[in-house]
Amino acid sequence: MTNFPISIFCPFCQRHTSLTVASGRCLRSDNDSALAIWDVGDKRGTIWWIGICNYCKKPVLVCDNGDIYPNPLPSPTDERIPEPIKQDLNEAKICLSVKAYRGCAVMARRAMQTSCIDKGATKDKLVDQLQELASNGTITKDLKEWANVVRWVGNDAAHPNKENVSKEDAEDILNLSEQFLHVIYVAPAIAKEQKSKRGK
Ligand SMILES: [Zn+2]
Repeated sequence: MTNFPISIFCPFCQRHTSLTVASGRCLRSDNDSALAIWDVGDKRGTIWWIGICNYCKKPVLVCDNGDIYPNPLPSPTDERIPEPIKQDLNEAKICLSVKAYRGCAVMARRAMQTSCIDKGATKDKLVDQLQELASNGTITKDLKEWANVVRWVGNDAAHPNKENVSKEDAEDILNLSEQFLHVIYVAPAIAKEQKSKRGK
């Protein structure tokens, strides 16, 4: 079982956990118990097995070519990001994990727009909201440029007859959006935690 993945971001509990091969009573044979591993009998010798998340105990189906169902998330989302924004970002990650690249770009853009509103932006359009936050010093000019890339690709993804969104585009946009949220929420929260730890 050397090729088998042993750790994933669990699609159920969304934690970085390891998998144990499921075992249980085999209902259709004389064997009293068996590990849940199948050799499908093709020329490649494909093996499927059921992995049990060691944290939440829910099962995933794993192929030795690396496929896992349901698809695990690409990465966990930092707990310091406020809940509604985290939900948007997680939905973008779920879209990426099932190859829904346009959906990923739209949700990554939405996560960013939700954060702009959370940070006090009052205008209707994201472009104006970003300008508002840059003008009042909530985000830097660099961060605004960064955010505009997410906005462009998200806009293309949401409208017909626009540029398509490739896997690489979706990964880039998700990454940029998550980094944006890290600068806005996670970095200040870590600084605050460290300050209070040191009594500053
Ligand atoms: Zn789990």
